[in-house]
Amino acid sequence: MQTLTVELPDRHYPIHVGPGLLDDASLLTPHFTGRQVMIVTNETVAPLYLERLKTTLADYDVHEVILPDGEATKNLEHVERIWDALLAAGFNRRATLIALGGGVTGDMTGFAAASYQRGIAFIQVPTTLLAQVDSSVGGKTGVNHPRGKNMIGAFHQPRAVIVDTDTLNTLPARELTAGLAEVIKYGLIRDVDFMTWLEDNMAGLRSLEAPLLTEAILKSCAIKAEIVVEDETEQGVRAHLNLGHTFGHAIETAMGYGNWLHGEAVGAGMMMATGLSQRLGWLDEATLERVASLLNAAGLPRHAPTEVSAERFLELMHLDKKVTDARLRLVLLKALGKACITDEVNETTVRELLENWER
Ligand code: NAD
Ligand code: MG
Repeated sequence: MQTLTVELPDRHYPIHVGPGLLDDASLLTPHFTGRQVMIVTNETVAPLYLERLKTTLADYDVHEVILPDGEATKNLEHVERIWDALLAAGFNRRATLIALGGGVTGDMTGFAAASYQRGIAFIQVPTTLLAQVDSSVGGKTGVNHPRGKNMIGAFHQPRAVIVDTDTLNTLPARELTAGLAEVIKYGLIRDVDFMTWLEDNMAGLRSLEAPLLTEAILKSCAIKAEIVVEDETEQGVRAHLNLGHTFGHAIETAMGYGNWLHGEAVGAGMMMATGLSQRLGWLDEATLERVASLLNAAGLPRHAPTEVSAERFLELMHLDKKVTDARLRLVLLKALGKACITDEVNETTVRELLENWER
């Protein structure tokens, strides 16, 4: 097991990463604020890991909420189910919530914890790679609104994040690959040595070698935590975490939500950002090839879906919330491992990139 401590202005919390951690009560119980514990999970994850976690916590007053699966459940109705279960169990402000599942479970549970009796403790036990390297770090919690994704929420930090790398053994390969997109993103925006390490170890990661997974997850969390601490309010450098996301969101919307996984769209989006950076003269052809090979090795797409025209792409990119005024503001790469925010890209360059993309 390895541990990373996230330093916040007023307190700190650990991220423990390694195989078999679900069985280790000593990682969880020091963070409980009382004997009352509510595990929130979903119908897919419960049969896989709920009993194990309950066995680990056998000495506590443990209750559970099992929600349906899917992004469509990330709404207030399901948060209300968590509040209802807490009230029905007679849980007070010293109760602790545990999120056992992917980002959907983590975001909802975190929000339920932020709001129940004005805020109670919660612990993240993320079971998807995406949740392990992205959504469980940073303190953003919340739900979707019919008018927009993640529109209702709160900042609420977990007491601890427990990443059992063995949980990835049951994760569908496509979900694992989608999570790898965010892992690769950290290398591209911030750490060229990590990118090289990923090039050397991608096959081992995809065959779920625990020491490699531990290393990659810890490094990813460290980079995200560093950026979040530098820029809690999202004024500057935190935007670098959106590399590939403006293009990615356009792909997700154009293809119909859920047909391309978020990470797959971000993979193609990062390739487009890399392509634009090369057109601006910031990266050479060999670097472009390097990024393409790494995405390919992770099983990610290297170009946008051919069905989406350049016009439609530009229209959707302008709808994205990162576009200020009429100008496109994009996260690109000044060099490998060095992201920047620019409005130097004009529509013609994007159109050229899209139209001349080898598809
Ligand atoms: P998810 O939670 O829907 O999980 C993906 C699928 O994997 C689900 O079907 C889930 O039931 C299943 N699953 C989870 N763990 C499993 C396991 N170990 N074995 C088998 N199946 C398993 O999706 P996700 O990709 O984990 O998270 C996406 C969500 O995270 C989105 O709602 C997104 O908005 C949010 N997010 C939040 C932040 C943040 O900062 N809070 C950051 C990034 C993403
Ligand atoms: Mg993302």
